Amino acid sequence: MMDEERWSPLLNTEPIYSTLDDAKEAMENIVAMIKKADLSKEIDDLLSIYDEMGEKETIDFGSCCACGKEDKTVRNFVMLNVKGHIPGTGWGCVVCGIPADGATAVICDECVQRNVRTEEIKWVIKGYPLEKGRGLRSELTEYWDHNRSRHPEMDGLW
Ligand SMILES: [Zn+2]
Ligand SMILES: [Zn+2]
Repeated sequence: MMDEERWSPLLNTEPIYSTLDDAKEAMENIVAMIKKADLSKEIDDLLSIYDEMGEKETIDFGSCCACGKEDKTVRNFVMLNVKGHIPGTGWGCVVCGIPADGATAVICDECVQRNVRTEEIKWVIKGYPLEKGRGLRSELTEYWDHNRSRHPEMDGLW
């Protein structure tokens, strides 16, 4: 049970400052306090932490599997319907229980934006993504897909 007496201050709708001048004065005091505190060093520290976080978010996955470009925009993973070079390092599915043997490719933002066709993806990731290995997609011939009998939700979608 909520004690209404106790919580009533939180429900108070009275303005904190009775006149605009009061509010202005309070605001000027706060600005003066901030200026006096000189937080520029703290702000610089915070900004450099954000910069470092940005650096860490940019993971190098190697070259684009479609155009071959190598930059920080190579970060879009594509699952292909073919079995990859090294079993256990690609895509699988916990729902239907297929192992992580499916081939994956990683492509750059530009290739995503121009709607690269899957046939244009010449290379696939060989091994784990961070190892940056590449193999030719043409070397892969074995079809790879979900076990559709265990995915009733996919019926009629593909
Ligand atoms: Zn590309
Ligand atoms: Zn599945």
